This record gives sequence, C-alpha cells and structure tokens, in this order.
Amino acid sequence: MLSDVPYSDHLAACSRCGLCLTACPTFKISGAESESPRGRVQLMLLEATRNIDPHTARPFLESCLQCRKCEPVCPTGVRVTDSINEHLGANRMDARLRLWRARAKFIWQTLATRH
Ligand code: SF4
Ligand code: SF4
Repeated sequence: MLSDVPYSDHLAACSRCGLCLTACPTFKISGAESESPRGRVQLMLLEATRNIDPHTARPFLESCLQCRKCEPVCPTGVRVTDSINEHLGANRMDARLRLWRARAKFIWQTLATRH
C-alpha cells in the first residue's frame, strides 16, 4: 500500500502539473517523460503501488542528477531527490557512486547532442 511508503506524501502530492519539466536537465537533454521529475515521481508511485514490475523505475531514478532544480518550482513541494534516495534505499556510498555515474552519463549525452 502507498501509505506504507515513508515518502508517500511526496508521491501523492504530485499534481502532474509539469511545471518542473523545463527545470530538469535530464529532461531537457532526453525529452523523455521517464527522465523528468514528474515521470520519476510517477514511476515511484507505480512501483510503490505494485502497478509495474519491481526495479522498472531504477534506471530512470539512477539517472537523476540530484541537482534539486525541480524542487523550488514545484507548487506542491514534492521533494523529488529525497524520495528517490528513499526509494532506492541507498546508503551514502551507493548514492555517491550513483550520482557520479549519472553525471558522467549526462555529460556524455550533452556532448553527443552538440554534434
Ligand atoms: S512541479 Fe511538482 S506537482 Fe508538478 S509535476 Fe512536477 S513534481 Fe509534480
Ligand atoms: S533533481 Fe533530478 S529530477 Fe530534479 S531537476 Fe535535477 S535531475 Fe531532474
């Protein structure tokens, strides 16, 4: 049940307004909903309510740069980054490794789109 998830308030607070989309660097590069704050929140929601297979969301959550640019623009105060970290259940070292991988991927994608 969603209420069993500690960050469920944040997932449920997303109104899907899309105001966060243009603030998100990974969405700007990929144009993919699954690489946007809204998409990541919806994927976590679907996993938490067991409406998609476990771990389906993982690659899209791991590609989050943890930049928090989506959070100040969110009218309902969804804390995307904290929710992702809780969802992945990562310890500090895992989170750091994940972040470096995501940043390296982002730099690679940014360079690739310039050609
Ligand atoms: S701005 Fe906030 S409420 Fe709107 S889609 Fe993004 S996360 Fe959801
Ligand atoms: S914290 Fe993640 S979801 Fe939010 S803007 Fe940065 S990359 Fe996008």
